[in-house]
Amino acid sequence: MQMNFYMPTKVIMADNCVINHSEEFSKLGTKAMLVTGKSSAKKNGAQDDVIAALTAQNMEYVVFDKVMSNPTIACAYEGAAFAKANNVDLIIAIGGGSPMDAAKAISLLAAQEIKEEDLFSGNYGKEVIPMIHIPTTAGTGSEVTPYSILTNDAKQTKTSIAAPILFPEVALCDPKYMMHLGMATTINTAIDALSHAVEGMLSVKATAVTDVMAIESIKKISACHEALKKRELSLEDRGNLLYASTLAGMVISHTGTTAVHSMGYSLTYFKDIDHGRANGLLLAGFLRVVEKEIPERTSRILEAMGLKTVDELKVWLEELLGEKENITAEDIAKYSPIAIQAKNIMNCPVRVNEAQITEIYKESFGI
Ligand SMILES: [Zn+2]
Repeated sequence: MQMNFYMPTKVIMADNCVINHSEEFSKLGTKAMLVTGKSSAKKNGAQDDVIAALTAQNMEYVVFDKVMSNPTIACAYEGAAFAKANNVDLIIAIGGGSPMDAAKAISLLAAQEIKEEDLFSGNYGKEVIPMIHIPTTAGTGSEVTPYSILTNDAKQTKTSIAAPILFPEVALCDPKYMMHLGMATTINTAIDALSHAVEGMLSVKATAVTDVMAIESIKKISACHEALKKRELSLEDRGNLLYASTLAGMVISHTGTTAVHSMGYSLTYFKDIDHGRANGLLLAGFLRVVEKEIPERTSRILEAMGLKTVDELKVWLEELLGEKENITAEDIAKYSPIAIQAKNIMNCPVRVNEAQITEIYKESFGI
């Protein structure tokens, strides 16, 4: 048995953990920069809790609330300039994947001089501003990954910065911030987490330990399917989805994602389809291709979901996704050559070629 496991983020998952663990902030710094989107961190109460915790610890803070969804490289550089101008020594990300991913790039760029052309090179020094992440959606798992995914206009897709120094020091996870999350975002993020766990099971880097976490994550998400369908989630359901998404984040921090994410990036870049939804639209089609070569892996995934066939998975997903977007054969001809070049394609044990990618896109959209 060979097994490597590295997850340096301290995870605290509990009701009111931000207020009850305010000492975590002062252990890491004296002046914090909050990194958020425009409004959700204010509406869901997370920002008020963080400010109360910082005040309790006599800490100073500044707020950078300019992170858009699918953050750009320019946003990361702007945030880094703001961090440097304000001499902050702690970065606190509050939000879904976008603020958390932007915060990682900001903490790197504020600590090291990196030119834009070298941003995705992987050649970085050791310096980084320490981070605490507070997820307010249950999907990305970014609070426990070393990835920062940014919109890359030069490549017309999303590209990730990946480096172990980008693991947050602490993740404070409280499902109460998700109680008023809109249903579309709730469903899309749950499907993103499911996709992370499933793709983690189908990665060449999967291990016995990541499999255990992935199966647990898949089971917890599947148990919420009825609630997601009815669009009525209790705090307990929210807690289960948050637990599942954090586990799935730990999985992909080891396994990476696979072709589903590579293909989904084009749907987001060109059609503005939400990231998790894009994965959900493609997941069954990908599993159908994979099933032919590694049926035992596919069976384990379906079994954990309480399903028997990929067709049942397709229905499971369609019940949550509703009407699909109109994607044409011309669109797909543009996306496939981009997807095949993505790094995550290399994680697939079944090495899909461009023709198979085109087939998956076509099946997914009924073309
Ligand atoms: Zn994802």
